Formats: sequence, structure tokens, C-alpha cells
Amino acid sequence: MKKFAVDENCIACDACTIEAPGFFSMNEDEGCAFVSTQPKNKSEEEVCNEALEACPVEAISFTEG
Ligand code: SF4
Repeated sequence: MKKFAVDENCIACDACTIEAPGFFSMNEDEGCAFVSTQPKNKSEEEVCNEALEACPVEAISFTEG
């Protein structure tokens, strides 16, 4: 299963939190998104892939776990 992460390039646009609510959340204090829950199955992983593709600055990456 993929393990997702958000890096410092995040511009807090909220695209990922809209595409994958429950997996990506916004840290309002830090002004960047973070992964609040990692996907546990293929359909959840696909939702997170949609968030990755929606990110305009490629701030989302993943490692294969
Ligand atoms: S889509 Fe990318 S830039 Fe926008 S909030 Fe998510 S990680 Fe940040």
C-alpha cells in the first residue's frame, strides 16, 4: 500500500483536502496540508492518488509500503 506525504512546497490550496477528505487535512497554523490518515485498501489508495494528481505544485509524494 502507498504511504503518502506532503512536503514544504504545499501552498495550502485545499485541492487535496477536497479530493480526499479524511486522508488529507489542512494544518491551519502551519499553512500546509498533511496526511491525517493513510489509505488502508486499494479504493482508499485511489482516492489519495486523485489528491496527488490534483495538487498544482506536486507537493504530494508517496512511498510503496
Ligand atoms: S493540493 Fe498540494 S498545494 Fe494544495 S493543499 Fe494539497 S498538498 Fe498543498
